[in-house]
Amino acid sequence: MTATARHQHWIDGEDAEPADRAWLPTLDPATRERGDEIAAGGPADVDRAVAAAERARREWADLSPAARGAVLHRIADLIAEDAETLMRLERACTGKVTAQLRLEIDLSAQYFRYYAGVVRAAGQGGVIEQGAGVHTYTRYEPYGVVGVVTPWNLPLNQACRALAPALAMGNAVVAKPSEFTSVSTLRLARLASRAGLPDGILNVVTGTGPEAGAALAAHPGVRRLAFTGSVATGRLLAGVAAARLVPLTLELGCKSPLLVFADADLDRAVDAVVTALAANSGQVCSAATRLLVEESVHDEVVDRVVAAVEKLRPGVDFGPLITEAQYRKVLGFLTDADSPVPVTGGGPYTDGPAARGLYVRPTVYARVDPGARLAREEVFGPVLVTLPFRDEADALALANDTDYGLVAAVWSGDLARGLRLAERIDAGQVAVNGGPLTVETPFGGYKQSGYGREKGLAALHEYAQLKTVSARLY
Ligand code: NAD
Repeated sequence: MTATARHQHWIDGEDAEPADRAWLPTLDPATRERGDEIAAGGPADVDRAVAAAERARREWADLSPAARGAVLHRIADLIAEDAETLMRLERACTGKVTAQLRLEIDLSAQYFRYYAGVVRAAGQGGVIEQGAGVHTYTRYEPYGVVGVVTPWNLPLNQACRALAPALAMGNAVVAKPSEFTSVSTLRLARLASRAGLPDGILNVVTGTGPEAGAALAAHPGVRRLAFTGSVATGRLLAGVAAARLVPLTLELGCKSPLLVFADADLDRAVDAVVTALAANSGQVCSAATRLLVEESVHDEVVDRVVAAVEKLRPGVDFGPLITEAQYRKVLGFLTDADSPVPVTGGGPYTDGPAARGLYVRPTVYARVDPGARLAREEVFGPVLVTLPFRDEADALALANDTDYGLVAAVWSGDLARGLRLAERIDAGQVAVNGGPLTVETPFGGYKQSGYGREKGLAALHEYAQLKTVSARLY
């Protein structure tokens, strides 16, 4: 076991000792060994961070979009240059496999690159014609200090998704990463300083949700909030934001449907299903975890998925569950007396290196009752349920039979049917035949999956308020 380090908060461009001198342990879920310690922040640390952001914000906001964009470009460069270190830090507390880490670090840099350019073209308002003698225009202005609370499943990536547009629009940020996975966000703040981001514009306060997160959400100096995580915490923060009358973006859970029709390219559809199950061990808010298959090909598709899933290797193709609580939660679903017998998987690893860590066997349940807990609740692990459907109308009804609505996928040889369903499925994004969802494509929920949009042009304007200025010239 390597020696552990302590990571302080990052406030006003430097390390900051936690006010209470308290520390939290982290864990390597691949081995269950103790890792580095992080500062256990609370209200006093949040106060310091918000004060630093408040002092710094005006000067940053007054820069031209081009000048802010130049700093964001340098942050992207430094993320790319620092990829090995970021991957090591992220791996130490998540156990993620290399391919997944590369993807996430690359995407993290892309957020900064994208918003660095986009803010120059779309960060400005427009002129409103009202006749001679009047000059009326709109301008996008930052909120001021933005609070960003992120979870443990895609730590750096989810932080960058919110930070890049918020900073591009001229806000100052106080970020509160998950207490299980804070170190990469601290590293990002250090890199951002090196890239020329002024002190106080990006602060990171670490600690638990009820201590540091709640203090940030309630702080009167925070004028806007962005949250990614569970529905329960999202609901709580929505209450806080409503009481304080500050806007909030909520990216919550899902039980995403993936529809496969008999006329689909089954090779590609099966690949997409298996990739979704393995990616981050299913700990992805948009993961396709409800496989709806046309009856005539249902058993064939399930057989092909199971054959591919059984080839997945722990520690190579997929990582462990990231927290002990999540591991217990997923195993709880698998051992629930009401759960049917899975076609494959169904428990932890009991021998080999994977038995040391929080690994769960990729699990498939076939022909699950649509009303069953497994078919309705977000498991957030490598667990797939399948449901057969009769026809297009039945498929649509099943797809929408959920409290969630983040992402859906349709696979069909009939593109018109794919697009028809895309119009009718209640979800923030629908991918037809593997259509790509990238940094450019707005991302966010319908129903209990949340509100507001991250990614794409839409997110840029989420982090700005529109002001109208009108002047009589004579
Ligand atoms: P969580 O919602 O408790 O934590 C997410 C973030 O919110 C963390 O930074 C946490 O410290 C913070 N937080 C917690 N309580 C808070 C409070 N009272 N005030 C302010 N901030 C607070 O999520 P979790 O415990 O990490 O995971 C629980 C479940 O959430 C998972 O099983 C999964 O279903 C879901 N989840 C969803 C996503 C997603 O991307 N949508 C990510 C992680 C977890």
